Amino acid sequence: MKKTNRVGIMGGTFDPIHYGHLVTAEAARINFGLDEVVFIPTGNPPHKKDYNVTPAEDRYLMTVLAINNNPYFKVSRIEIERPGYTYTVDTLKQLGEEYGPGTSLFFISGADAVFDILTWKDVDEVLNYCTFIAATRPRYPVKKLEEKLKEIKELYGKEVIPLQVPGMDISSTDIRNRVNKGLSIRYLLPEEVRKYIDKSGLYR
Ligand code: NAP
Repeated sequence: MKKTNRVGIMGGTFDPIHYGHLVTAEAARINFGLDEVVFIPTGNPPHKKDYNVTPAEDRYLMTVLAINNNPYFKVSRIEIERPGYTYTVDTLKQLGEEYGPGTSLFFISGADAVFDILTWKDVDEVLNYCTFIAATRPRYPVKKLEEKLKEIKELYGKEVIPLQVPGMDISSTDIRNRVNKGLSIRYLLPEEVRKYIDKSGLYR
């Protein structure tokens, strides 16, 4: 019998991508026995109205540079090429059709996303199309997360699976702030991405 293909979908703004994201993707790949992990930089995210998101092409290129040496990692332009706001439900639907019925999708995101998920477009469909994995940073308030997961289970009958990721205490916001203040971002993200930020003048 043909084995089911298990594909991780690493959704994120990746502004910029950093080692926290890469460590998370690798932890999810190993813990869930994924055949590959596809990084999907967001196109025009409906929930980011409070700051100017870096152009999608820059975020895409930084993601390509970051995943380059991992044979299990890929990057997709699926969201940055979709006009209008990008919603996860549309991405999962499209990927489900592309991969076909023999594939199980695992959507990997930060645990904070779980607190907003009930406001996402067609959340019931999102939870039907994939297994949702919520990655937590060290010192994350796990109790609050567990209550939210219980609420989601009661409402939709679906498990969101928490994944503790040691060493994930890096954030894109902090990296942007550091660049803006002229502080070093070495060792927080792959060197190729640091050089890209330096050359392009992003976040200054
Ligand atoms: P966000 O709200 O900026 O991030 C929430 C937290 O999770 C941040 O701490 C972030 O850290 C972290 N994070 C984000 N992506 C992660 C990942 N793949 N693995 C581990 N940690 C991650 O989230 P976002 O990046 O904009 O969006 C996450 C995903 O949710 C995207 O695919 C987005 O399209 C989707 N989303 C969909 C809808 C919708 O369909 N209506 C609404 C909101 C989000 P960093 O800042 O360090 O990345």
